[in-house]
Amino acid sequence: MERFENKVWLSTPTMHGEEMKYVQEAYDTNWMSTVGANINEVERQISEKVGCRFAVALSSGTSALHLAVKLAGVKPGDKVFCTDMTFAATVNPVLYEKATPVFIDTEYDTWNMDPKALEQAFLLYPDVKVVVLANLYGTPAKFDEICAICEKYGAVIIEDAAESLGATYQGRQTGTFGAYNAISFNGNKIITGSSGGMLLTDDEEAANKARKWSTQSRENAPWYQHEEVGYNYRMSNVIAGVVRGQIPYLEEHIAQKKAIYERYKEGFKDLPVTMNPYDEKTMEPNFWLSCLLINEEAMCKQVRSDNESCYVSEAGKSCPTEILEALSALNAEGRPIWKPMHMQPMYRMHPFITKEGSGRGKTNAYIAGKGIDVGADIFARGLCLPSDNKMTEEEQNIIIEVIKKCFE
Ligand SMILES: *Cc1c(COP(=O)(O)O)cnc(C)c1O
Repeated sequence: MERFENKVWLSTPTMHGEEMKYVQEAYDTNWMSTVGANINEVERQISEKVGCRFAVALSSGTSALHLAVKLAGVKPGDKVFCTDMTFAATVNPVLYEKATPVFIDTEYDTWNMDPKALEQAFLLYPDVKVVVLANLYGTPAKFDEICAICEKYGAVIIEDAAESLGATYQGRQTGTFGAYNAISFNGNKIITGSSGGMLLTDDEEAANKARKWSTQSRENAPWYQHEEVGYNYRMSNVIAGVVRGQIPYLEEHIAQKKAIYERYKEGFKDLPVTMNPYDEKTMEPNFWLSCLLINEEAMCKQVRSDNESCYVSEAGKSCPTEILEALSALNAEGRPIWKPMHMQPMYRMHPFITKEGSGRGKTNAYIAGKGIDVGADIFARGLCLPSDNKMTEEEQNIIIEVIKKCFE
C-alpha cells in the first residue's frame, strides 16, 4: 500500500525567508520586547490591507476575541449569541467574562451561522446585544442578512475572522463587518507569526482601550497606577517580525489554497460528495481548508460517542472516519469538522437555537435529525482534507485516488 515518505499535513506554516530579516532586525536593534518597529509596521500594513482604521497587535486571536468581548460591554450573566460550529476559541472568551453563550445553528450554504436561526434566537431572547460570528474555514458568513438582523435588534457583531484573513464578501474584506474583529497568526493559519493575533476596529477609543488593557492597564502616572484589570496580551516584536515577512505572501497563499480546493472539486466530481460551499456571486473565500461533505445516501453506518468512533464499511459508501483512517494510512493529515459547541460536554447545558426555534428538548438533550440540527449533520458527514499549500499536485492526486477507493 502506498504511503508518503514525508507527511502531507492539514495546514502548516509556509516561510519565505524575509521573516528572518525582520526577526534579525529586532535582535540587532535589541527591540526584543512588546515594543518595536515590527509591531508598528504589521499594524499599519494589516489595517491598510483589510481596510479598517485600527489594528492592535496581540499575543493571539483568542486574546483579540477576549478584548472584543470586553469592548462590546458583555457583563456577567449576559447571554451572547455565538457561532455553534467552530473552534472553541470563538466562544471561550464569553465564558472568561462569566457570560452565557447561546449557540446559533449552522446553514448548509456556507457552513456559517444561519441567519434564520439568528432571527429565531432574537425572538426568544430579544434583549441580547452581542453576536460572535466566525467565518468557517475561510468562507465569509452571509453578512447582508446577519448585519440586517443585528441592526434590527440593536446588537453588536464581533467577527472572528481568525480563519478568513484575505477573504471578501461583496468585495469587502472579512474582519471589517463587526464593531470589533479578531484575526489570528497561529501556526496553521493562512499566514502566521508562529502565534499572534490582532483586534481590528474603526473605533479609535476602542483601539486605545485594547492597547491599554493588553499592556496591563497602566494609567498615565509616574508609577504603576491601575484603575482597572489588565492583561499581558501584547504581541512580541519578534513574532511581529515573522508576521511582517509573511504579509506580502498572503495573496500567494490564497491562490495556492484555491488551486487545492479546485483540484479536489474536480477530482471528486463523480463521487457522492460536495465541497465546503460558498456563494460565488458574493463571496471570495481564502480557501484556508478544503473540506468535503458526503451525501446522505452515500454514508455507511457510523457511530460516534464522546471519545470514539466506529463504522461499518459498505460497498459504494463511506464515512468521515473511514476516509480519515485511509488518509492516516497514507501518511496524510485530515481532520473531522469542528465538533459543534452545543454537542460539547462543557456546553451541553447552554441554549441551542436552530432555524425551527429552540433545539433543546425538555431534558436539554439536543434534537438531532436532518434539517433540524444542521451542525450535527455536517459534523457527522464532513471532514477537512489535507490542505497544505506545500502539497504537490502528485501528492494531491494520490490523496484523491485514495478517497475514491473508500467509495468502491
Ligand atoms: C485559530 C482560531 C482562533 C484562535 O486563534 P489563536 O491565535 O490560536 O488564539 C479563534 N477562532 C477560530 C475560528 C480559529 O480558527
